[in-house]
Amino acid sequence: MKLTILGSFSAYPSFKGFTTSQVLEYSGKSFLIDCGEGTQIQLRKNKIKFNSIEDIFISHLHGDHYFGLPGLILTFNLLGREKPLNIFGPKGIKEIITSLMKAGKTWTNYKLNFIELSSIKPVVIFNKNNLSVTTIPLYHGIYTNGFLFRKKASSHKLIVSKVMDFGIDKTQFSGIKLGKDGVTEKGDIIKNIKLVEPLNPDITYAFCSDTIFNLNITKQLMDCDLLYHESTFLKKDENFATKTFHSTAEQAAIIAKNSNVKKLILGHFSSRYNDLELFLDEAKTVFNNCELALENKSFVF
Ligand SMILES: [Zn+2]
Ligand SMILES: [Zn+2]
Repeated sequence: MKLTILGSFSAYPSFKGFTTSQVLEYSGKSFLIDCGEGTQIQLRKNKIKFNSIEDIFISHLHGDHYFGLPGLILTFNLLGREKPLNIFGPKGIKEIITSLMKAGKTWTNYKLNFIELSSIKPVVIFNKNNLSVTTIPLYHGIYTNGFLFRKKASSHKLIVSKVMDFGIDKTQFSGIKLGKDGVTEKGDIIKNIKLVEPLNPDITYAFCSDTIFNLNITKQLMDCDLLYHESTFLKKDENFATKTFHSTAEQAAIIAKNSNVKKLILGHFSSRYNDLELFLDEAKTVFNNCELALENKSFVF
């Protein structure tokens, strides 16, 4: 999987950068996560094909996380899109988007499917092509979800050297991957277990959008390969973070440490800070494998 950061500032876009949006590429598809203003420009800049986007996940209805969505929907239409588009987001998102379109007497020539979310418990909202997406309920003053993307363990992986040694014909490979025994040219049966490697583990990405520091979410984040956690503020402004239902870099790192994730990336920076390296320094005092989720940067995992 490949994650590309399209925007990582909080509140409003500025010369420093765009607001929250990310794209997760997997198996020829691009999953858009949040859609702040300017997302369509960032998609073009990062050469993400518009047609590869079929599913958009919106964490909450603060403008810095979805004000790019109406524009993107209409651009898709102007470009002649025919494929349906699925939008997962908080209850109310359908009315907001459709009201905007009605006001402009515009509609899309492709089907818009809204999957409105209202559960305060984790729910599997997507399950296709070996990839599932589960909501991560967050605490942010308004209804907010993070999203846990899980690429499920693939079926058995063939040990090519073993199969070759036994002289097993290529036509059997797909069957062996599904658990069948192999048959040599002489007709000997080779047990499946001798020909395959253990299952690949799941690969997981957790996107924790805006949230107050909350250790309860670690249950869902356990052993994740990659965790994005917001860090709007530095520790010196922790009071302000709590008041506005946001987190500090140190708190994001505490979540990462307690979840035993492999890597943490930080974003949603308040533009009050001029030196983003301070976020990294602060987080690394708690959790070392940490990077800034800087715009146009990609993470392959
Ligand atoms: Zn925000
Ligand atoms: Zn917010």
